[in-house]
Amino acid sequence: MKATSIHECECPDCQQDQNHTSKQLHHQMNLLLSRLNEQQRRWYAALESKKDGHGGIRSLSQITGIDEKTISRGIRELEEELSDQPIDRVRLEGGGRKKVEKKGSGA
Ligand SMILES: [Zn+2]
Repeated sequence: MKATSIHECECPDCQQDQNHTSKQLHHQMNLLLSRLNEQQRRWYAALESKKDGHGGIRSLSQITGIDEKTISRGIRELEEELSDQPIDRVRLEGGGRKKVEKKGSGA
């Protein structure tokens, strides 16, 4: 039994029997996503969708299983420099990580 569920890509390339180059990439994208928290997943998918150009959001939704609306939201957040997403709110499980030092000068 798997501990984490990894989304299986539903894009046309990955539906083919032959080993498409995208297959491993898409699997690893989903593998990575399975380890991220919700907002990180959103931002990663948003970033990838931008690389893909037209239809990027839809294809990323297909690959990752993340809702198109959620990806659009991630894009918007990235464009706003994640200003509404304080770093302190991103809590890591385990809590063994050191706090990131804040730089004194603002801008
Ligand atoms: Zn795929």
